[in-house]
Amino acid sequence: MRETERDIPISESWGEGLVSFAAGENVHLEVRLESVHEGILASGIAEARYTGECGRCLTAIEAPVEVEFQELFAYPGDEANDFEVQDDHVDLENLVRDALVLSLPFQPVCRPDCPGLDPVTGERLADVPNGEPQQSTDPRWDALAQFTSEPAEGAEDAPGSQT
Ligand SMILES: [Zn+2]
Repeated sequence: MRETERDIPISESWGEGLVSFAAGENVHLEVRLESVHEGILASGIAEARYTGECGRCLTAIEAPVEVEFQELFAYPGDEANDFEVQDDHVDLENLVRDALVLSLPFQPVCRPDCPGLDPVTGERLADVPNGEPQQSTDPRWDALAQFTSEPAEGAEDAPGSQT
């Protein structure tokens, strides 16, 4: 059994959502390699920091994540394996990348109660003093508002309305 710790900068960004691990970001790895009958069992912890934007207010955010991984790297044989020992080495990159990318939040937010953007002004509601979105109606509703606030046509003909 062998244990090792490494800091490895990633050469290209990992993840394609609102947040990702940027190229050049360091991945801290604590790896344990165990020789087992079928191959080498690699397990450990990967830590990295993602950066990106809040999904509600677009503020720049960043946060560390830590994931565990474990995979058996089989000795090359007749059967094809996703993970194989090659030239006495195990390539952990795909394994670590997948584990980290899967840990990225699907809907990242700068804080759990982020109020998002004002739908009218585009301002961050967190920056607006009262934190309430401005009341506004979609202009397409204006005609309808007019319609309802005026006496309906034909009301004069209704029974009881004549003097
Ligand atoms: Zn936010």
